[in-house]
Amino acid sequence: MTREKRLEKNNKIREKGKETRLKRQNQVCRVFRVKIDFSHLNEQEKTHLKMIFVEAKWLYNDALTFSNSNDINEYDYKLTTVHGLNKDKQPVTRELENLSSQMRQAVIQDIKHNIKALSVMKKHGRKIGRLKYKSNYESINLQQYGNTYKFCDKKHIKIQGMKKSIKIEGAEQFFDVPGIEFANAKLLNLPDGYYVAVTTFQDKGGEIKKYKPEIGIDMGIKTSITTSEGKKINVFVGETKRLKKIQRRMMKRKKGSSNRYKMQKLLRKEYQKLDNRKKDKANKIVHDLLEHSKVYMQDENLSSWHKGLFGKTVQHSILGFVKNKLMKNERVIVLPKSVATTKTCPKCGRINNEITLSDRIFECSCGYKKDRDIHAAQNMILLSKVNKNTCGTQEIFLSNAFGEDVRQLKSQDLNAASLN
Ligand SMILES: [Zn+2]
Repeated sequence: MTREKRLEKNNKIREKGKETRLKRQNQVCRVFRVKIDFSHLNEQEKTHLKMIFVEAKWLYNDALTFSNSNDINEYDYKLTTVHGLNKDKQPVTRELENLSSQMRQAVIQDIKHNIKALSVMKKHGRKIGRLKYKSNYESINLQQYGNTYKFCDKKHIKIQGMKKSIKIEGAEQFFDVPGIEFANAKLLNLPDGYYVAVTTFQDKGGEIKKYKPEIGIDMGIKTSITTSEGKKINVFVGETKRLKKIQRRMMKRKKGSSNRYKMQKLLRKEYQKLDNRKKDKANKIVHDLLEHSKVYMQDENLSSWHKGLFGKTVQHSILGFVKNKLMKNERVIVLPKSVATTKTCPKCGRINNEITLSDRIFECSCGYKKDRDIHAAQNMILLSKVNKNTCGTQEIFLSNAFGEDVRQLKSQDLNAASLN
């Protein structure tokens, strides 16, 4: 390709990108997962699918070795021979027969992305190690719809490099949606099977959605999520008996034995099921909360809870997932950690510093009394409004947020509040 032709091609890609971004502004992005029906594949297809991930791992590790002493941008992904080490750490040369050219490109892109992420972390002063070699490759990006992958109908998908289309389950949930567009997808190798996670775009609906009134939420270690409406939501997902059983059985097997390996595989599968259950539950909670016009919450430091004695419970809680998902939404208002949502009395404005973690009821000298978590959740709404109105005024008048009289809050109290 000549220089001019290449420039012209790059220009075209750039223009097309701009056009797409403009269109995407009026669209909703959703990711759907379809499962590949592995049992209906013939032996050759089964091997092909398995080898895609094995070869991706080989390629990744080879390119990683290359990047240790060279610029990764000079790695030639078009080569189909890679070098590596076998089980006995002896050097071997391997042929990539199942990984299509675009998949190879995606794997190299993956490394470039990881290298970039590391350097960003370094810039932010984080301690970083080296990129690790992979023993397992789990996700391959299928960049272009119609090229690297394509739906033949709602029961079949064609993946680049595979001769025939293969059977899938679960495409009914989105396939017939009018005007749906397919973007990239990810071919996934998970403990319980092979999946394709498809990114889709749909036009935003024209009608205006009716929301429920605004809501405040308090996240706590003891009662998970409490809403300003007084609802308590449980966010814990328990381990199954089967998981514990497999764990026990695995520990009895000899290290390095094939039986132990089998148990590890089973264990990974169980963990994935647990993960799926967690995600389902978190999605449901987020969805229900976003039925409200606005959600007020505080930026809690969940990671510090992991360090304390609550470790085990927090581990199986989905609070972090819920929090991250909520914080990405434009209708969610996040109060800084410094706002004293628990200590401030909504009736008289006093900051009750004497309240401790073990007090489950908030009680103020003015006579106001309420369940601590509901009180904090209601304060999320109230205090986020006060904070907005503080701009230099001496006295702040609170709006009649909870149906009581107009309250007055001294700015010195507020200053005290921000210190706590
Ligand atoms: Zn009070």
